Amino acid sequence: MKNILKIIILITSLTSYSQAVLNDVEKEFIKNNPILTIQNESDWKPYNYSESGTPMGHSIEYMKLLASKVGFEIQFVSGYSWKEYLQMIKTNKLDIIVNIAKTPKREAYLSFTSPYSNILSSLYMIEGNNKYETLHDLKGKTISVVAGMVGESVLKKNYPEINIYPAKTSLDALKAVIYGKADGVVQANIVGSKLIKKYNLFSLKPVFEITDPSFNMHLHMATKKSDKVLISILEKAKLLITEEEQLRLKNKYFNSLATSSVLSLEDKKYLDKKKRLLFCVSPNWYPFEKIEKGKHIGMGADFLALFQKNIDIPFTLVPTSSWKESLTHLKNKKCDFIPLVMKTPKREAYLSFTKAYLEAPLVIATKKDIPFIQSLESLDGQKIGILKSDAYSSILKKKYQNFELFEVNSLEDGLNMVVKGELFGYIDALASISYQFQENYFNGLKITGKFDDRWQLSVAVKNEDTELLNIFNKLVEIIKVDEKQKIINKYVNVKYEHAVDYSILYKVIVIFIVIILLVLLWNKRIKDEKKKVEVLNRKLKENEVKLKEMNEELEQLSSIDKLTNILNRRKIDEALIKELERSKRTAKEFSLVMLDIDKFKSINDVYGHQVGDDVLTSISSLLSKNIRGIDILGRWGGEEFLIICPYTSNQGTIENCERLRQLIETYNFDKVGHKTASFGVTTYIDGDNLNTILKRVDTALYKAKNNGRNRVVAEI
Ligand code: GH3
Ligand code: MG
Ligand code: MG
Repeated sequence: MKNILKIIILITSLTSYSQAVLNDVEKEFIKNNPILTIQNESDWKPYNYSESGTPMGHSIEYMKLLASKVGFEIQFVSGYSWKEYLQMIKTNKLDIIVNIAKTPKREAYLSFTSPYSNILSSLYMIEGNNKYETLHDLKGKTISVVAGMVGESVLKKNYPEINIYPAKTSLDALKAVIYGKADGVVQANIVGSKLIKKYNLFSLKPVFEITDPSFNMHLHMATKKSDKVLISILEKAKLLITEEEQLRLKNKYFNSLATSSVLSLEDKKYLDKKKRLLFCVSPNWYPFEKIEKGKHIGMGADFLALFQKNIDIPFTLVPTSSWKESLTHLKNKKCDFIPLVMKTPKREAYLSFTKAYLEAPLVIATKKDIPFIQSLESLDGQKIGILKSDAYSSILKKKYQNFELFEVNSLEDGLNMVVKGELFGYIDALASISYQFQENYFNGLKITGKFDDRWQLSVAVKNEDTELLNIFNKLVEIIKVDEKQKIINKYVNVKYEHAVDYSILYKVIVIFIVIILLVLLWNKRIKDEKKKVEVLNRKLKENEVKLKEMNEELEQLSSIDKLTNILNRRKIDEALIKELERSKRTAKEFSLVMLDIDKFKSINDVYGHQVGDDVLTSISSLLSKNIRGIDILGRWGGEEFLIICPYTSNQGTIENCERLRQLIETYNFDKVGHKTASFGVTTYIDGDNLNTILKRVDTALYKAKNNGRNRVVAEI
């Protein structure tokens, strides 16, 4: 497992290294721009300041380190105001501006790297409010923050019991406390102290530094927006700075500050006088702590190492052989403090405790076939083991009378008794039991319940050592959440049974989600397909309609004479054939007229072809308007027309034609004046076909022409 972890770490470091390799464009950039100009401010401690003309500060050294990684040289530009620096980067007088926070306004003209440092915030209150130590102590109080800034959302999310007074600006947020609209204000340390100084708000004092990392204000490097290559180089160079180097810089500039701000001069004097601090521990309480070969190890030892960072005098272990002995030692002043102790009323008689800084949930271990135990109340009548003279032994005895507590000499003894069935279960801290499970194989045991009751571990000193208590309280307060978590993770391998086996639940949920996703995807595909088909269908329909229209048009074109807009020869032939067939079937007579314009050629000759066309059009419309509804008119050729007159006798047709002849004769044609036409008429006779009937009507027309034109002649 550890090897796999190592490989993973190796791979991640390799990938971060390969991500940090400069490409040709970036190398070329450094070659052409080997010197970077960066601002050196006069008094922005500890980030960027100047001490007798030398640029100093975390940002300054960080940039030097970063530049050395990729081969840049730095020229620091001193002597200007922040505003002027912002202006200078716009006009290329500065390449990089460091320790700059990201704001939307700045993002309009600057590109930012990822953050390389941050500024801590503090809670400021009116002087004299000293009873608060963390934000958790401010339940029900009102805190002012700048509306829309990160602090507001973090308060809302992580501290829902704190009321928020939203202020417009940082200054308004501070003033809200002075005017009594808020009890306190969360402000970045640097901003807060500057504003207090500038606006004489000296009644405001920082009460505690906020350890919740969500409040931190991030500091970035920024370049002019167009300097894309430079930003990418800076980002890559950042990856080349090792964790060790970062830590060294942080320790140099921030930890000394933390100490000086955490421990007062009096504290330091007190410690100097003590020369060293003696401590006692629980000799056998691993992973919390134990003494191994005379050395203190475990979580307690790691916390002491944290404390040691801020204390100049050493901690010295006074070894003991039992926990009881350690307590007696402290009582008898053989040691100055114990790092991990639970506060109990009995102990408070002679010991003082810092705020609890390590919490350990209590769990119960039972045989594997016991189902999940929700609470200690449900242990009715059972015999439960607990460590002898454990702080929790007396607490639980008082709190729960529903089960029997049996004191054992060691955790191992207790667990063995559970295996043998002599105890129903064994109660201890999660860390202790899970450590035992890892170290020794307890056949058939598991953790079956986790309770609200928990160890609350503090540093304990003798009652009279108020100065030392005060110092430890300060040291406990500055333990960062992630530092604490790191220590806990190092020792606790959390494996216990929940009410539901979440691993199975999660698997079921994951499978369920996958199925839902698949169904959704499938549905989407089907929907998409359906949509496609719909689109295709619509197109098909559109095309069908178009085709139909085109066909109709084509049909129209092929049946209508273009010039005269009446039926063409093909269509009138068709109509004639139909009429012949119908008459054959029904024995109903019909008549046929052939009409030819007289002396038409002369129109063309005299007035031109166009005028001839116009006369043809005029006569066509004159005819179609004046034939009966049932009659069918068509252009037979040049200036010849056919009229089919269904259900009409020869005589009736002659009369109709006579009417048409007169209409034409009297019509005044544009330009041409009067024209006449000759009509041949015939009527269907049994046995007629297209040829016979056409021949007869043609003969009739021929006769009309021969007889002097402008007349109607019938041929039967
Ligand atoms: P009639 O029938 O009285 O014997 O004399 P006509 O001059 O009408 O006789 P003919 O059949 O010899 O002449 C017909 C002329 O009609 C010939 C041709 O130039 C003209 N014509 C045929 N079709 C069209 C057409 O579409 N437009 C024009 N402008 N002239 C046409
Ligand atoms: Mg003619
Ligand atoms: Mg003719």
